[in-house]
Amino acid sequence: NEELLINSEKLYVAGQLAAGIAHEIRNPLTSLKGFLQLIASGRGNKEDFYDIMKSELVRIESIVSELLMLSKPQIYELAFKDARQMMTETVNLLETQAILHNVIIEFHAGDKPLWVMGVENQLKQVFINVIKNAIEAMQNGGVVKISMSHDEDGTVNIRIQDQGSGISKEQLSKIGQPFYTTKDKGTGLGLMVTYKIVDNHKGQITAESEIGTGTTFIIRLPYYEQPIPSG
Ligand code: ADP
Ligand code: MG
Repeated sequence: NEELLINSEKLYVAGQLAAGIAHEIRNPLTSLKGFLQLIASGRGNKEDFYDIMKSELVRIESIVSELLMLSKPQIYELAFKDARQMMTETVNLLETQAILHNVIIEFHAGDKPLWVMGVENQLKQVFINVIKNAIEAMQNGGVVKISMSHDEDGTVNIRIQDQGSGISKEQLSKIGQPFYTTKDKGTGLGLMVTYKIVDNHKGQITAESEIGTGTTFIIRLPYYEQPIPSG
């Protein structure tokens, strides 16, 4: 029975994800427990432990908040949104982080609104996740180029291009799988959440990459005609 098969497939994926989450959260929890025991026994220097304990807590916090993005928002705040405006706000938000990594974000917003339909915070999360990865891919700094257009085929086309390490063919098939990361402090959840949100918005996301040259992520979202002003 096909329906049963689909359901068991879904259960399997849920089980895989649950196992991954449990594993990723248990590690920092075990380490926190160890440090608490050390402090309780009066051994070692407490101040030295606090930094590590804090980073373990931050790790749990970031795993949990990225996973929360996967759950549907309680109240669907679907609305017409200007993708250029959302990108401008996202770029401003990431400016400090870019400077810290010697990265310049090049984005000319233009003045023509690009209307899409969606949940603002989720779409901004997509932009944040992809731009953050672009910044992190450039160990020695560089330029992240962002461009947006309204294409003939009725989509808003968003390109985020970096000059980073690039992604190999083999890696390309793995990115977006839960917990797949090549970074010491990565969660490997950013792209999974990103793909899910883009899919929920009836969009598409693809990546073009060349080792040593860089990567371009392309996000396509359905374009909407200018909404009728309300009020
Ligand atoms: P994280 O950033 O926590 O590692 P992501 O899901 O955001 O998790 O990304 C998964 C992996 O995909 C990264 O660890 C990296 O190997 C690869 N990746 C994503 N974006 C880029 C990029 N722009 N350049 C190079 N590698 C990338
Ligand atoms: Mg990431």
